[in-house]
Parts: sequence; structure tokens; C-alpha cells
Amino acid sequence: MNNRILALKDSQLVREVLLSFWKIHILHHAAEGLVYGQWMIGELRRHGYEISPGTMYPLLRRMESQGWLKPVRTSPANRSRRKEYTLTRLGGQALELLRTQLAELHREVFEKHKKGRGHHRPG
Ligand SMILES: [Zn+2]
Repeated sequence: MNNRILALKDSQLVREVLLSFWKIHILHHAAEGLVYGQWMIGELRRHGYEISPGTMYPLLRRMESQGWLKPVRTSPANRSRRKEYTLTRLGGQALELLRTQLAELHREVFEKHKKGRGHHRPG
């Protein structure tokens, strides 16, 4: 696991693909409850991703400016005054679309993988 993390670090994969995976994770968890940077970092670590605060916080801010997340007023219990986010309606719609696309992608990538080559070959 650690080797995998190291290998992925700083790679183009992060920018090109994994960033999108992380956004889907964030949308998913924001749909279930409040999320904040440090919690998301821990959650993604559980999934095998090592993400620095310098990556996570700008990501959350960008998702906020895109209208997918909105900060909520911090509760009195939240003494650290961390910024907590919830999913917006737009974010919910994005998540719904992504779920459909993800299921489709999963079907394609895994089922065909299991069967071996899934290319449509002439003849
Ligand atoms: Zn997760």
C-alpha cells in the first residue's frame, strides 16, 4: 500500500485522473453529512490516498466556488472553527450524474476486463 502511495505521489495520474476521484469522494460524503478538510484527508487516507492540506483545502474552495459545496455556520461545539461544508442542490445533481457515469464506466472497465479483451473485432 505504501509503495503504491509513493508511486502515485507527484505523478501525472494525480492531476489527470485522481483529482476527479477525490472530488467524487467529497461530493459523496458531503451528501451524507458535513465534511471538512481534515476529515476528508483522513477519509481519503483510509482509501489509500495521501493528500496534503495544500491540495485538499484549495480543492474544497474550488468546489465551493463551482457551487457544489457551501460552507455551513459552525456549531458552538466546533471550537476549532474549521470550515464545514454541505452539498448544494447543484452538487447533488452533479453527484447523481457522476453516479450514473461511474456505474457505466465500472461496467465497461470491469466486466470486459473479466472476460478478457472486450473489443469489438470484425469477423
Ligand atoms: Zn470515501
